[in-house]
Amino acid sequence: MSDNAKELREKLMMKERKGAADFTPEVLEQADAFCEDYKKFLDNSRTEREAVAYVKAMAEENGFVEYDPNKSYKPGDRVYIINREKAIGLAVIGKNGTDNGVKLAIAHIDSPRIDLKPNPLYQDNGMALFKTHYYGGIKKYQWTAIPLAMHGRVVKLDGSTVDIRIGDDPEDECFLITDLLPHLDKEMATKTMSKAFTGEDLNILVGSRPYDGSDEKDLIALNVMKILNDRYGICESDFLSAELNFCPAFKTRDVGFDRSMIGGYGHDDRCCAYPSVMAAIDTKLPECTCITYLTDKEETGSDGNTGMQSDFLRYFIYDLAKSDGNEGYRVLSKSKCLSADVNAAYDPTFASVYEPKNCSFINEGVVISKYTGHGGKYDTSDASAEFMGEIRAMLEKNGVKWQIGELGKVDIGGGGTIAKYVANMNVDVVDLGVAVLCMHAPFEVIGKADIYMAYKAFYGLFN
Ligand code: MN
Ligand code: MN
Repeated sequence: MSDNAKELREKLMMKERKGAADFTPEVLEQADAFCEDYKKFLDNSRTEREAVAYVKAMAEENGFVEYDPNKSYKPGDRVYIINREKAIGLAVIGKNGTDNGVKLAIAHIDSPRIDLKPNPLYQDNGMALFKTHYYGGIKKYQWTAIPLAMHGRVVKLDGSTVDIRIGDDPEDECFLITDLLPHLDKEMATKTMSKAFTGEDLNILVGSRPYDGSDEKDLIALNVMKILNDRYGICESDFLSAELNFCPAFKTRDVGFDRSMIGGYGHDDRCCAYPSVMAAIDTKLPECTCITYLTDKEETGSDGNTGMQSDFLRYFIYDLAKSDGNEGYRVLSKSKCLSADVNAAYDPTFASVYEPKNCSFINEGVVISKYTGHGGKYDTSDASAEFMGEIRAMLEKNGVKWQIGELGKVDIGGGGTIAKYVANMNVDVVDLGVAVLCMHAPFEVIGKADIYMAYKAFYGLFN
């Protein structure tokens, strides 16, 4: 006798989406606890440099020591390696070392923000301002009329460095990009959103009081420079050798009456960086050597010597291979990677851009993106059926709740991750990360259960 339709459906068809109701109260409790330390990490990692410093301290507290290519390491040893203070790798040496390849989790720790131009300071009609060049893909209007903090490093002519971090403490001064009042924006309101603010309009207000009442010119700009000189010992020409970044001055906070979500600056991609670091820390004696790597410059195309297109990670793996008596390229060819990056969470207010059968939802588990890119699968690494099968089985085995996530409807836009650069090294790779609402906005939102599931996924890969 044949099955009735109900039985047949249960046997053959995908289960109904139960969403967040799939999580047990115990798992939600673990997720909430996990997120408390994540919030601290996020508040202290506004830039890639700060993230590297924070992760280095976490690593050292947990028995990781700086990697020395001239030393040999035994299974269970823990090392870290830092690239120009902007990228960091944590490795746990496996029982088989690099013989069967390495397991990789790679996230990025740069986020969209506003950078200063090399020659930023000017005065205009009673105000001192900074010229900027935005970093990464931002919707410019979102960055106006909000408090901004200044973070970064200045290198002086004598070679000494000054680290600056000002504006996060509510007692600190803050800065902003001014916006036009609605009473006078009739003309601006007719422009398309991308034209309402141009890059050259993103000027940051930094002062309005002159140094004194003398006849010298630009006394307000001079006063700003005097304050910076008193505090940091820098002069205007030192901006030429500086990296100064303006980020939102908001603290990370819980979102929703149920506190199920977290709002904050820079979830993309620190909400994948943090769980991948925790997975390395909690991994003690894996079979294969495991590496969590946090890269820079993803938001601007992964170029440069701290981006994923640099050979830094490849050289590190070659060094590990060499000390095991292996060829680096053979190790890479046997390696497997989770490219840990965020995806767009479904937003009911903008439902028309999503395809609900294949997009991801907040607090419904970690997201796998088989491919990213845009129209016709351009500019992406498309994970093979075999590797998808392997990762899917690993997640099921480890009790990780996960969902599939294609970035919006076909042909409506697109985006990429570092996965394709990893794939180019002949490594099996797929994107796995957290679903984000308001991605690239000054205040992004993620689900607490999702970041915890990301942790379990990276831990599952390593172990
Ligand atoms: Mn990202
Ligand atoms: Mn991004």
